[in-house]
Amino acid sequence: MSAATLPTDTLDFTHDATLRAWLASANTLETDFPIQNLPLGMFRRAGSQENFRPGVAIGDQIVDLLAACDAGALPLAVAVSLAGCAHGELNAFMAQGRAARVALRHALSHSLREGSDHQAALQPALVAQAEAEYAVPCRIGDYTDFYTGIHHATTVGKLFRPDNPLLPNYKWVPIGYHGRASSIGVSGQQFVRPRGQTKGPNDDVPVLHPTQRLDYELELGVFVGQGNALGDPIPMAQAEDHAFGLVLLNDWSARDFQAWEYQPLGPFLAKNFASTISPWIVTMEALAPFRAPFMREAGDPSPLPYLDSDSNRQQGGLDIGLEVLIQTQAMRAAGLPPERLSQSSYRDAYWTVAQMITHHTVNGCNLQAGDLLGSGTQSGKKPEQAGSLLELSAGGKIPLTLANGETRTFVQDGDSIILRAHCQRSGFRSIGFGDCQGQVLEAKA
Ligand code: MN
Repeated sequence: MSAATLPTDTLDFTHDATLRAWLASANTLETDFPIQNLPLGMFRRAGSQENFRPGVAIGDQIVDLLAACDAGALPLAVAVSLAGCAHGELNAFMAQGRAARVALRHALSHSLREGSDHQAALQPALVAQAEAEYAVPCRIGDYTDFYTGIHHATTVGKLFRPDNPLLPNYKWVPIGYHGRASSIGVSGQQFVRPRGQTKGPNDDVPVLHPTQRLDYELELGVFVGQGNALGDPIPMAQAEDHAFGLVLLNDWSARDFQAWEYQPLGPFLAKNFASTISPWIVTMEALAPFRAPFMREAGDPSPLPYLDSDSNRQQGGLDIGLEVLIQTQAMRAAGLPPERLSQSSYRDAYWTVAQMITHHTVNGCNLQAGDLLGSGTQSGKKPEQAGSLLELSAGGKIPLTLANGETRTFVQDGDSIILRAHCQRSGFRSIGFGDCQGQVLEAKA
């Protein structure tokens, strides 16, 4: 297993921008899934009772990996590495770490490229994405949500504590809390508007009612690959060997519950009723061309030595363009497409993937294959780059007006929220994450 992953040691033939697949839909400019991406997910034919099984997105199709192995289109070693994944969970494959992931990537890059001898064997193993449904790709044992978006932390801090927006630990500690894994769903997730306790500033006592301040949070999720033994911290030099890949994550939040309950122990029922992830895990290898330096503003403290490394400073960041869109019930009825609410970049995160992993384990805490680490809301520096409605509406005071004339301060019943992400860099093929879509339904009577 290699130590720190520098682009120079991780870029290989699979990143060649001139590579083309024998599948035309993978060669279009619009696709999120060219042959340079090859993200993993769990799928089956929609409406069937088949087991969910591992697949890789390519163009508008999915390679059914187990069918491809059966057809002899992938090497035996790759088939062996996928053996534990036939029943809807990628954990056994994820736990094998980087080498197994790279072997699969190399094999698929060869089998799917124009002129490959494997085309005839692989063709019957394709399933159209339009005919598929997805599952959460692995058993998520534990879910931790960090708070690495400093612009979000500052803006929300001002709303909750006008005199004290950014707490003094923020620039020293990658702040996080332990969330709940059971309510994480895959894109397409629908959930009913949650009920909870709220107390307005002028109320004498709290009341129980459906949230009136339902919000989304634009986040990325990092899936853990190889775990660590209890008591064995992961140093920065090895941190990324434990990262499997990234998904989009919408950390739905009830701001009225949150404001009332969050002190002294942090988020609880405001956050655990639903969280939505995109179906495809974009691997660390696919993201290798899009690394970025880890930067701090002049005057900010340097991270403590255990959270610092040359490699992290040079390329610990990831330049992933993010956007959030809304499609209201009225827009859907009128046949209108989703409308963009904001755009930001993961490049602005205050702490990197490696720092989240190293900090999480510095006390000996054991991460396990399939654990999910949320990045926290990724807002840009400008107000219009905010990754939540709480920020975009200035705490619910200034409604946004949509193109069809509707207004929003928070999410309304029937609204769909869609997160998207794209990576672009000159000299490399652009890749995307696919949609992360979720919809809120009216509260139960
Ligand atoms: Mn969050």
